[in-house]
Amino acid sequence: MMKLADCLLNWYDECKRDLPWRRDKDPYKIWVSEVMLQQTRVEVVRAYFERWIERFPTLQSLAEAQEDEVIQYWQGLGYYSRARNLHQGAREVATSYDGQMPMTKNEVAGLSGIGDYTSGAILSIAYDQKEPAIDGNVLRVFSRLYCIEGDIATPMIKRQIREQVEKEMAIDRPGDFNQALMDLGATVCIPKAPRCEECPLLKSCCAKDKGMQQQLPIKKKKVPPVPVEVVAGVLQDGELFLLRKRPKKGLLAGMWEFPAIEIPVGENSMEVFQRGFLCETGQEVQMAKLLLQCIHIFSHRKWDISFYHCTYEDGNRPLGKDLFWVNKSDWDKISFAGPHRKMANYLLNEMD
Ligand code: SF4
Repeated sequence: MMKLADCLLNWYDECKRDLPWRRDKDPYKIWVSEVMLQQTRVEVVRAYFERWIERFPTLQSLAEAQEDEVIQYWQGLGYYSRARNLHQGAREVATSYDGQMPMTKNEVAGLSGIGDYTSGAILSIAYDQKEPAIDGNVLRVFSRLYCIEGDIATPMIKRQIREQVEKEMAIDRPGDFNQALMDLGATVCIPKAPRCEECPLLKSCCAKDKGMQQQLPIKKKKVPPVPVEVVAGVLQDGELFLLRKRPKKGLLAGMWEFPAIEIPVGENSMEVFQRGFLCETGQEVQMAKLLLQCIHIFSHRKWDISFYHCTYEDGNRPLGKDLFWVNKSDWDKISFAGPHRKMANYLLNEMD
């Protein structure tokens, strides 16, 4: 019987997806695409990738860019720590490796934001090194191919699958082998209803043989995001609005927002906001009118956020650490945190 790698590569040669980052083997482009593809669909990433590469065509150009601009080009992809780490990683390559992407597992995996999967993808695709790149797709495909019935989120099962991948990996085309697995997982061995009849690995698939393809992989249920009520205040002085720059670490690090506060369960939201604002600025505000309410879901939290138009003592603009009065004509130059961008757009569109 033909080896698994040969079946997979023959299929890949015929059916591989035409993706913009596959047009050359530039490690920087592979890096950018892999980071963008974490938590985002290929169709969405295409446009972002093209725009990104047009503005930051090389690692050096990214290393030299300002963080605000980098974040701006990421706006819409979410999970902004990915962009910040990519930027930081590019700077590390510029300073520690003379702008050239390193070529060893330890060095690549040591860069900011690069983990085991991304380093494997970069080294195998760009430099043809025999390094597996194991993500959720590969875990799914291999758990089905070998009827692995343990939870694929556990280190033990991950290790077992890694060993299996290393065993099967094509020696002469490791990069294509990894990309073929990515394509197979994305287009054929898909989560809900795998298209086994179109699968090049059909004959060697244990799950298909035993009719278990729908049951595998085994995955423990994720804890749903915790709902959190948030109140934000919109304070205005003509064309100026009061904004806060979030701390450099933590959720939505370094992004801009209307002053906001998370409300502890069971407390009066307006009172909590007013008390928090008084603490931060030494000034009182009145909540005049609800302008906008929206839901924003992060991986662990679900914000139910209400934006209130607030009034303050005439001629006495509140001030505070990390608070800035920003003209709305400058809002296109700053990166608003997700739901705050919605509020900003509302103000730009509705109040003009
Ligand atoms: S035969 Fe079906 S379950 Fe097995 S690897 Fe192919 S698509 Fe997945």
